Amino acid sequence: MSTDFKPTASPSNFADLKLSSETLNVLKELSYHQPTPIQKQSIPPLLAGRDVVGEARTGSGKTLAFTLPILEKIRLSGRQLQALVLCPTRELSTQVAREIRKLGRRLPGLQVAMLSGGQPARSQLPSLENGVHIVVGTPGRVLDHMRRGSLNVRTLRCIVLDEADRMLDMGFEDQMDEIFAAIPTNRQTVFFSATFPPTIAAMSKARQQNPVRIRVADEAQVEAAPQVKQELVEIAPGRKWQALQKILRVEQPQSAIVFCNQKITAAEIAENLRSDGLSADALHGDLMQADRDRVLAKFRNQSIRILVATDVAARGIDVADLDLVVNFDLPLKPETYVHRIGRTGRAGKSGRAISLVQSQEMHKVEAIEGLTGQRVARIKLDQSEAKAVVVPAAQASMVTLYISGGRKTKMRPGDILGALTGESGGLSGNSVGKIEIHDFFSYVAVDKSVAEMALESLRQGTIKGRKFMVEVVR
Ligand code: ADP
Ligand code: MG
Repeated sequence: MSTDFKPTASPSNFADLKLSSETLNVLKELSYHQPTPIQKQSIPPLLAGRDVVGEARTGSGKTLAFTLPILEKIRLSGRQLQALVLCPTRELSTQVAREIRKLGRRLPGLQVAMLSGGQPARSQLPSLENGVHIVVGTPGRVLDHMRRGSLNVRTLRCIVLDEADRMLDMGFEDQMDEIFAAIPTNRQTVFFSATFPPTIAAMSKARQQNPVRIRVADEAQVEAAPQVKQELVEIAPGRKWQALQKILRVEQPQSAIVFCNQKITAAEIAENLRSDGLSADALHGDLMQADRDRVLAKFRNQSIRILVATDVAARGIDVADLDLVVNFDLPLKPETYVHRIGRTGRAGKSGRAISLVQSQEMHKVEAIEGLTGQRVARIKLDQSEAKAVVVPAAQASMVTLYISGGRKTKMRPGDILGALTGESGGLSGNSVGKIEIHDFFSYVAVDKSVAEMALESLRQGTIKGRKFMVEVVR
């Protein structure tokens, strides 16, 4: 594997990376001020057309690293498929597609299709019929469309495997083989992952040509997230619930994930937190896809503060501003711990991870410390603190509204914002939160204090001259 690609100077801002002025403007609009290390190192070889295998921890900005070079090279005329990004899960595909659309906002007519399970393949045909420039999806569904003939990959110039390590873990190898066999051989092949197991080395050897290997900060993969304060509370099994209550009341997180090892625990804790007056919901494998989507949307837009999740269900979810992770149960594998706490302290923000540990589990903590090379601080929950101040429960500040129009009906965030803040809406811009456009519906978060008013005005009024059904999402 070659490491011969040396950028001449060490670039410290996006302008040094030889990106177009359009791209630089978009980055400015989105407040991306400086490239992260993986971005600095991988964007130049990617722009130069090289195959790249990039390894950097979760949250290091890999999406932008592969997206910008794709967008820089995209030819918009002719609507030919030029880039295919494969992701291990539907949630990740959704996030990556969203990020690509966001970064491609100044490219007129850019068509990005998301192909993954969760909805029938047939329903995805219309979005492919008129041609797309970029496809993001899971291997199974992408292959499905290739076999049906609804996705023509002959013009493909770049394939990206995002979270390549996890795709191999999840057993997508056969499907990936079939995809690789069908795409042009003179394409650019890019792998990004958080780890570099032998399986990736083997796949790189088989699929890439003279790849540039980029590895960010040697220790970065195990040094899970240096800006995360890791702590543990030693606790008897029967006291965990009280400890969790106390932590949440004292910390007052804006946004927190509580991890459990079992679905039933997750469901019960969420239920208990809710009856305690906290804003919480569970995310576990028994939920239907639509419910998962709803819970995640509410968590992202801050209508839910606390997500109680199992590892499988939380796989691949990305929430930017998480300030606390609680391990209600320690995970079975130390790697899972690293994965969990890597969800806080993203992109330079500080985060905190508190684990509830039984004394007979201390060996697990040692395994974790061995893997990360970092010590987990032993803390005691302060008895006096919680008694002295009666801290109100963490209430969500936002409410989510459902609107029965989405991307397929040409709904755009500006349309919803306009309807809420315009003359008929009467809301101020800062009482409107995150707007998420899905294919057939949209979610908008509004400040709790104006939720009724927003609901009424959307119901009475129109959006782009049309009536939509609007409901509060519970
Ligand atoms: P990874 O794929 O490596 O886990 P992501 O691409 O999901 O990481 O990025 C993690 C977070 O960091 C996202 O919220 C993203 O918007 C943010 N981010 C990415 N690049 C930058 C940057 N250069 N400056 C600030 N934030 C960034
Ligand atoms: Mg990623």
